[in-house]
Amino acid sequence: MDIFEKLTSLAKRRGFIYQGSDIYGGLAGTWDYGPLGTELKRNLKNEYWKTMVQLRDDVVGIDAAIIMNPKVWEASGHTESFADPLSECKKCHHRFRADNIIPEEKFVAADFTIADYKCPDCGGELTEPKRFSTLVETYLGVIDGEKLKTYLRGEITQGVHVNFKNVVSSTRVKIPFGVAQIGKAFRNEITPGDFTFRSREFEQMELQFYVKPEDEESMKWFEYWKNARKQWYLSLGMREENLNFKKHVKLAHYAKAAFDIEYNAGGEWKEMEGIHHRGTWDLSRHEQFSKQDLTYFDEETKERYTPMVIETSGGVDRAILFFLMDAYREEEVKEGDVRTVLKLHPKLAPMKAAVFPLLSNKPELVEKARNVYESLRKEWMVAWDERGNIGKRYRAQDEAGTPYCITIDFDTLEDDTVTVRDRDTMTQERIKIAELRDFIASKLA
Ligand code: ATP
Repeated sequence: MDIFEKLTSLAKRRGFIYQGSDIYGGLAGTWDYGPLGTELKRNLKNEYWKTMVQLRDDVVGIDAAIIMNPKVWEASGHTESFADPLSECKKCHHRFRADNIIPEEKFVAADFTIADYKCPDCGGELTEPKRFSTLVETYLGVIDGEKLKTYLRGEITQGVHVNFKNVVSSTRVKIPFGVAQIGKAFRNEITPGDFTFRSREFEQMELQFYVKPEDEESMKWFEYWKNARKQWYLSLGMREENLNFKKHVKLAHYAKAAFDIEYNAGGEWKEMEGIHHRGTWDLSRHEQFSKQDLTYFDEETKERYTPMVIETSGGVDRAILFFLMDAYREEEVKEGDVRTVLKLHPKLAPMKAAVFPLLSNKPELVEKARNVYESLRKEWMVAWDERGNIGKRYRAQDEAGTPYCITIDFDTLEDDTVTVRDRDTMTQERIKIAELRDFIASKLA
């Protein structure tokens, strides 16, 4: 089994992620987050927001609508060029993204003959790549024939740019400043797959950072955000050897620089987040199409200009997939006994702790444990388990990524101490109940 298969199976077994519409045979490219996955996702998004908005003076957040005026997508260039190159196998009729089959340098330089490449599934001949729009169409209104055709947003970026003027006039931001957003995006992907890596419905977490339209100044910010975003993944425990910066071979005509932060997914580097210098493209296009003045008046220099934008665009679901992959370990505890453990950073772990009474048929232990559980859950998500033997309960929490297991035993009744077992080292220590809160809080600081 490869790492994607192992994770898909663990995710389903433990309630992290299920196939979307599972009982109907699924719907390709859609996924539902279960109880543990939902907590993990909330934690990840909260950490993003804390780093990118809460702790910064120069970034504010917004939450724009998913469905927008269709003119937005004309202005952004999506209706014209948000497309992937589709090739179909003439024999088995499977469809592929030609840019996934042909090496990148050759593909971007259009230096290839399709006959030199074969269907990855059956070896059949492939058709010439055709542009296939990945925008998901939707219709609003009640009268057939008069319905407004628009799109489910293909990226969350445009919701920020169309609100540039609103944000500037309703807040105290001054350039350089950024607007962050987290939300759903939809793409009619030709080949959804690799678990949640390529989905048709997914979430993005983005920053649009507006700077003076000066090359040196804007490149300084580009480098700043490129490094800051990598640091964020490292700060949440991702292993540095699994991260890579990839420079884009071909830039959009308006772009000044673009890098991807890639993750080493089972030996293959895969895009996790893009850092793009988009020049003045977005604001000037919206200015042109909306006929509104979207320039910025700089009080300090008394200049009026269209700012440049540095974008950091990460996938929430891809980050979750790669955090899970990074945390996944199979460890031989003793000969023939392998445990599966998710060594997730405590900040990301769905449950911060699990509380167990040593024996479920001793009411005095259950009551004492319940008190500990009730007091900790006021602050954090905490699991409760009284089934089976302690060893099995530890293993279940290892697979859930719970960093600490707290057991209430007969000594607890005497001296108010509990056993705290560490997920990663499997060592145990006695801690006073009164100190438990600070102990867990210190791991989340
Ligand atoms: P790819 O080349 O993999 O299709 P992209 O370059 O089109 O990705 P962007 O448009 O830059 O991706 O989107 C920014 C981020 O959104 C990506 O880095 C990724 O984390 C996430 N993302 C994009 N498409 C998907 C998808 N189909 N499923 C899940 N996440 C996605």
